[in-house]
Amino acid sequence: MRCTPGRLRILALLADSARHLSPAETCAELARSGEAVHATTVYRTLETLVEVGLVHAVRGSGAAVRYGATGEPHHHTACRECGSVGALDGRHLAESMGAIEELTGLRPDPSGALLIYGRCAECAA
Ligand SMILES: [Zn+2]
Ligand SMILES: [Zn+2]
Repeated sequence: MRCTPGRLRILALLADSARHLSPAETCAELARSGEAVHATTVYRTLETLVEVGLVHAVRGSGAAVRYGATGEPHHHTACRECGSVGALDGRHLAESMGAIEELTGLRPDPSGALLIYGRCAECAA
């Protein structure tokens, strides 16, 4: 993969974001920082980054897929109302993961094993 500035910029944006972003949100964030990038380009770039494993896609609630940088192992939260997807640090869940393995015999993946649905802080307010 060629490291074009657009790809690095989008990867950095996802890595810095507290939430995982939809293609539209990624576009909006780029526009906000003065780098207007065509939506198609953003979408293609996200897909390319997924293919090479630097980014992963999460389908939470609703139609829009959200994208996050694949760095530290983490799980996901998904808001049923606004569809936002957040990262959930796996280190807080070691006990739960142990319990899941004990109960089911399945050893959960260290990253992406859980998708927890609910209402995000913004929607619950
Ligand atoms: Zn993620
Ligand atoms: Zn929400």
